[in-house]
Amino acid sequence: MDIRELITKSSSEQRKALLNKEVSAVELTQAVYERVNEVDEKIGAYNSLTKEYALETAQKVDDKIKNGEQLPPLAGIPLALKDNINLKSYPTTASSKILKNFISPYDATVVQKLKSNLIPIIGKANLDEFAMGSSNENSAFKIVRNPWNLNKVPGGSSGGSAAAVAACEATVALGSDTGGSIRLPASYCGLVGLKPTYGRVSRYGLIAFASSLDQIGPITKTVEDSALLLNVISGHDEKDSTSLNLPVNDFTKDLKNDLKGIKIGYIKELCSEGLNPDVAAAIKKSIETYKSLGAEIVEISLPLIKYSIAVYYVIATAEASSNLARFDGVRYGYRAKDVDNLYDMYVKTRAEGFGDEVKRRIMLGTYALSSGYYDAYYKKAQQLRRLVKNDFDNAFKKADILLSPTCPHTAFDIGSKVDDPLSMYLTDIATITANLAGIPAMNIPVGLDSDGMPIGLQLQSDCLNENKLLNVAFKLEEAVQFNYSIPTKTTV
Ligand code: GLN
Repeated sequence: MDIRELITKSSSEQRKALLNKEVSAVELTQAVYERVNEVDEKIGAYNSLTKEYALETAQKVDDKIKNGEQLPPLAGIPLALKDNINLKSYPTTASSKILKNFISPYDATVVQKLKSNLIPIIGKANLDEFAMGSSNENSAFKIVRNPWNLNKVPGGSSGGSAAAVAACEATVALGSDTGGSIRLPASYCGLVGLKPTYGRVSRYGLIAFASSLDQIGPITKTVEDSALLLNVISGHDEKDSTSLNLPVNDFTKDLKNDLKGIKIGYIKELCSEGLNPDVAAAIKKSIETYKSLGAEIVEISLPLIKYSIAVYYVIATAEASSNLARFDGVRYGYRAKDVDNLYDMYVKTRAEGFGDEVKRRIMLGTYALSSGYYDAYYKKAQQLRRLVKNDFDNAFKKADILLSPTCPHTAFDIGSKVDDPLSMYLTDIATITANLAGIPAMNIPVGLDSDGMPIGLQLQSDCLNENKLLNVAFKLEEAVQFNYSIPTKTTV
């Protein structure tokens, strides 16, 4: 296979080509950089490239192949790393001016795992500043464009990670998901995106946005790649106090199980009103496909979904206001000049260093946590969060997997929501509940709308049930045969 075609494929085909010595890992990495050179000026997926590290890693893979040594499953497979995850000796900016010149002094735990699996990291992927946003228009450096249509957003906040994979500027990517930031970009860019169970993947070295909601996960072209990358990144880490101390599953092992006896519940509140008609039709078709695959379909109600956006935006902003207090010009990155005293330095640094959306959230969160308002907002939100979790616990007594759209609509035009934060927040209606409940959830592409933009289906399972989730996703993927390599042929 021609190397230009090979970079459009999933990891299994690339691995085959590496093991058969049709291409070397260094050649594969270089071909991906060629692609980046050609298209990234238009797309904006990367904040910075990590070429030296990538080529060094690829060389190690080639040496192993030459010596006939065993190769880890994703060795040599080019990866895009969201730029809020630390890679030692390279910039980590969270797409914020306040961290513009910050160089990571250490590796995140997931990065250590990528390194020991010999996975070349191509570059640091653009995001909404501090992962706050749903469209990637909040990056302090540049917007990201959707490779399927350059006038549309790629989704956020892991928009760079998703656009990089969709445009074949990487084969797989890591994103982070606090309220949908892996699944929404995966949905808008026609990819598979998985937010694991809270605590499954270490958050050590991920720049914290809302610590009780944040989770790192894979963005890939296929369900199998998602499972393979989850194998790499999951596992207990004593450096993260919320990390679960459990043995690591093999997440690929149940992919091909048949669906007889599996109960799939479609979420009534998310599958009826307010859906774009093409999305509604695709969801209906997916339900029919599952029926024909032998699954039992039931209706599930999650009545508290209507409060979830309010709950999320109180809890997430409260935690963010506390987490972002550390960016004060003393310890990290940017420091304002021409200041009169220490207080002035703090104020000017934060005023100049943070973008509008980040400031909005720090103000909202500080308000929700302040004495006098704490009980009315933060405590109430935490109580409702518990009730949302109860809703899910009840739902999982009736169904193994919950089904809904990932978003009520497909990717929207750049600029169309950026001045209306509330309408932007509403794009998260289907995704944020999984973070509130800590359960795993994923997007898989199920078709295109009448404008040729990808439509995403969301599947959710109970905590720690990723194997079943991936199995149910894999079966649909097999039936749908979504053509994920379209962007190379069309817009770019
Ligand atoms: N869109 C949501 C927000 O703006 C979720 C972001 C995320 O998951 N990081 O907060």
